[in-house]
Amino acid sequence: MNEAPQTVSSVAILSTGDEVVEGRTVDTNAAYIADRAARLGLNVVAQLTVGDYPERLEWAWRTALGQADVVISTGGLGPTADDLTNETLARVAGVRLVLDEEQAERIRQIFQSLGRPMPDNNLRQAMLPDGAEIIANGLGTAPGYRLVVPSAQRHPVAIVLPGVPREMKPMMEESVEPWLGARLGGGRCVVSRTFQTFGMSESAVDEALEGLIDPEEGRVAFRASFPQISVRLTVIGEEAEAHSRLRLLGDRIAERLGPALYAEGDDATMEAVVGNLLRTRGLRLATAESCTGGLIGNRITDVPGSSDYYVGGVVAYSNSLKQSLLGVSKTTLAMFGAVSEETAIEMASGARKATGAELAVATTGIAGPTGGTVEKPVGTVAIALASAGSGGDGDESVQSKTYRLWGTRDWVKVLTSQVALDWVRRHLLGLDPLESNFGRRVTRRTRG
Ligand code: ATP
Ligand code: MG
Repeated sequence: MNEAPQTVSSVAILSTGDEVVEGRTVDTNAAYIADRAARLGLNVVAQLTVGDYPERLEWAWRTALGQADVVISTGGLGPTADDLTNETLARVAGVRLVLDEEQAERIRQIFQSLGRPMPDNNLRQAMLPDGAEIIANGLGTAPGYRLVVPSAQRHPVAIVLPGVPREMKPMMEESVEPWLGARLGGGRCVVSRTFQTFGMSESAVDEALEGLIDPEEGRVAFRASFPQISVRLTVIGEEAEAHSRLRLLGDRIAERLGPALYAEGDDATMEAVVGNLLRTRGLRLATAESCTGGLIGNRITDVPGSSDYYVGGVVAYSNSLKQSLLGVSKTTLAMFGAVSEETAIEMASGARKATGAELAVATTGIAGPTGGTVEKPVGTVAIALASAGSGGDGDESVQSKTYRLWGTRDWVKVLTSQVALDWVRRHLLGLDPLESNFGRRVTRRTRG
C-alpha cells in the first residue's frame, strides 16, 4: 500500500455539487475547512468548486492533487446517481471500488434502527476506493475516508468528507485535524487559545492588547462574530515549549481583557457561562421579556440541563400583560412609558414574585424600525435585574439602566439579550452590572 507523506504543509479544498457551484448552497464547508487548516499553520493553496459531472470532477481532483499535499473534499457521497466522488477518485487513483463490509453493515443497521427498508442504492455508499482508510461518520450513512493518490513521485492524500455540514464538522475536528496536526513536520506544533469577550468594541479590545504580545512569540487575531468579539492567540513551536508559551501569553491576554472576558474556548456561549454560574451558586433565574420576545429564554434553554436553574419567564409584550402577569402599575406605565427603567424594574421584580426565583432579568425597548420617538429613539432599551437580598423575606435589590443600541430589529433583539445575560453573569461574579459598558449609557438607577 502507498505511504502517506510524513509531513504535510499545503492543503487544497474541493467542494462538489451542482447546488454549490450554481450558488443555491453557500459554500460554508470550504470556508470552515480553510479556517481550520490555516489555524494549524498549513498553507491553503486553493479552493475549487465543481458540479456533479464525471469529467469536471476528475479535472478538479487531478488539479487539486497536483497543487497540494492534501486535498479535502466535501459532498458527493450520497446514494444517488449524481453522487460521484467515490468512483471519480477511484479512477484518478487507478484503483478499484470495493465493498467495505463493515460500512455496509453499519448502513444496514442504521436503516434497521429506523425501521425502514434499505434501498439497494445505499450500499453504493460502502463501495470505496481500494486502500481507503475510513473516517467514521457518527451522524450519517456516508463514511468518509483518506486515500493516498500517487502521482509523479508525490504521494498526495485525498481526504473525503460528506457534504452535510453537521456530519462533516465533527469528522474534521475529531479525525482530520489530529491527523494533520501529527504531520506538521520539524517537531512543530500549533496550539491556540480563544477568548470570548463582550462589552468592548473591537477597537477597544485591540487597544487593550496593543504591544502585549511580540508577534514573533504568538499571533493575535480578532474575530467579531456579533454580538461577541473573540480573540485568538496562536503559538507555533516545539510541543512542550509551545504549550508553556501559550499558557503564559494567554494568561497575559486574559488579565488585560478583565471583566469583558466571559469565557475561553471556540464554542463558549454567554448562555452556557451564565448557566454554569447559576448552577454552581445554586440560584434560579426567571425572565420578563418585552422587546426580546422570549429570545433570552430561548437562549438559556439552548443549554442542556438548563431546567436546573431556569424556572421560566413571561413574554409580556402588551401593557396589559405587563400589568396582569407581572404587576407593573398602571401609573408607572402612564408616567414613564413601557420603555423605561421604572417599568423594567417592576417587570423584574414582578417576575421574581410570580416565580419565586432568586434572580429575574427584564427587558423593554424599541427594536424598530418603527416606534421610535425623539426622546426614545429606536434602539432605546431598558434592562433591569432583580435579586433576592440577604435580609430574608421580601428583601430585594433591583438595578436598571437604559441603553441606546443600534442596528436592525434582529440586531437590537440579539444585543439586548446579550446585555441582559451579561448582567446576570456580572451580578453572579460580584461585578457591577451597571459597569457593563455596552452601547451608550443614558441613565442608571439602583433601588433597594
Ligand atoms: P448526502 O448523503 O446527503 O447526499 P453528500 O455527501 O452526497 O451527502 P451532498 O449531496 O453533496 O453531500 O450535499 C448534501 C447537503 O449538504 C446539500 O444539500 C447541502 O445542503 C449541504 N452541502 C453540500 N456541500 C456543501 C458546501 N460546500 N457548503 C455547505 N453546505 C453544503
Ligand atoms: Mg448527495
